[in-house]
Amino acid sequence: MRALAAAARATAVGVSALGVAAYWTGFRPRSQMFGSFPYAAETEERVVALSFDDGPNEPYTSRLLDTLDHYDVKATFFQVGRCAQRFPSTTRRVVESGHVLGNHSYSHSFTRYLKQPRQEIEIIRSQEVFYSITGLTPALYRPPWLCHWPWVLSTLRHHGLQVVSGTFAHPLEIFQPAADTLADSAARLTRPGTILIFHDGLEARGGPRDQSVAAIGPLIDRLADRGYRFTTVDQLLGVRAYAG
Ligand SMILES: [Zn+2]
Repeated sequence: MRALAAAARATAVGVSALGVAAYWTGFRPRSQMFGSFPYAAETEERVVALSFDDGPNEPYTSRLLDTLDHYDVKATFFQVGRCAQRFPSTTRRVVESGHVLGNHSYSHSFTRYLKQPRQEIEIIRSQEVFYSITGLTPALYRPPWLCHWPWVLSTLRHHGLQVVSGTFAHPLEIFQPAADTLADSAARLTRPGTILIFHDGLEARGGPRDQSVAAIGPLIDRLADRGYRFTTVDQLLGVRAYAG
């Protein structure tokens, strides 16, 4: 009996360790365990996609758009539906300036992953917001915290959305280290085909993003000096940006 109980305990520990490992794997930017989760393009060409999550968030998103306009660089904005309702003209400017608008959930709420593990409401509601503001339905989706549990991926497939990961420009970018630290890190991490992740907002709350905004010009200069050209995520991955 004692041996049986020990075996049962060992099995329980093994199963819970597997559960914890699977849980964390569902957040790892490069994990393909639960299905395709593209974080870069396979290419030898010096091409890179800049992407910005958690906006729109003013005045930072507009400052960023001014910088991108100045360099004539197009980027991809994974926006939060609730933030787009707060700053609809900024979301419209993203599209009208030739950048790509992707979906980054409606409320960026972590507990929704527990209450609505399929995330369907978050996805549909934000698609409706983006359509009402821009007349476009995004085909790209970046899940908050890059959570790509199997049921999230299957819901995205069901709605014809392409999931997108990437490389964080700096592991602490959301805490806003100095702009030159961010630009150094992003430049160091860039390879042919990299999708860089910055944040022009913070979840659905907004907040100061001065350092991220200030990092972009110097980063573009440095990457251009190394021979990089800039593109949008859909172009880089060879997928469509919008439905229909
Ligand atoms: Zn986010």
